[in-house]
Amino acid sequence: MSWFLKGIKRGIRTEKFPKEKPLEVAPWSTKIEGEGNVNCPTNAIEDNKWAQEKCVFCRRCFPSYKPTGDVNIFKVEKRNPTFRKSFYIYPIDVGTCGGCNLELKLLTSPQYDMSRFGIFFTNTPRHADALLVMGIMTEGMREALMRAYEAMPEPKLIILLGACAISGGLLGLPPEIKGDVRIAGCPPNPYTILKALVETKGD
Ligand code: SF4
Ligand code: SF4
Repeated sequence: MSWFLKGIKRGIRTEKFPKEKPLEVAPWSTKIEGEGNVNCPTNAIEDNKWAQEKCVFCRRCFPSYKPTGDVNIFKVEKRNPTFRKSFYIYPIDVGTCGGCNLELKLLTSPQYDMSRFGIFFTNTPRHADALLVMGIMTEGMREALMRAYEAMPEPKLIILLGACAISGGLLGLPPEIKGDVRIAGCPPNPYTILKALVETKGD
């Protein structure tokens, strides 16, 4: 019952992020810093350098390497201001554990509220500006992925969400599709996803 009373007291509070700093960030799936050799299962640390796109945030390197709380662990290689006013995303799960899906879904909550930036989900690739791919490449989804991509109108963007989609993570190989945007994390932090999407649509 305490969560209910807390909710009434606080009301619906939408994040001011990315204009202001995040209110509370879960420490993992943020930038990692430290030094020393560690037994990293994905070789995300080599010669004291951390590669965000390979990291599965297993914490095996702790305490030599620690999360910093910096959520800027994404790369936007192509953005398109055509999508500034409305940006429709078609998410496709090609082999996830479900973690990326849950964090992505949070962006529709009152706290993150991606619609205030004109970002929406669509349930058909024919209406999509961006295909958002999650998970490792599973055989059964190979054809579905390519069919979704081909059904999208031009111009279109590809967003890879999470370590599995970017580098194959711990379990397999990434989808054979080039990402215009790569959002790291396992699972990615909602703040990271939101900021990457806002930048991608040209804001
Ligand atoms: S958290 Fe795990 S995957 Fe990431 S750098 Fe540390 S040991 Fe490697
Ligand atoms: S990146 Fe992590 S959270 Fe996302 S699907 Fe892969 S294992 Fe799950």
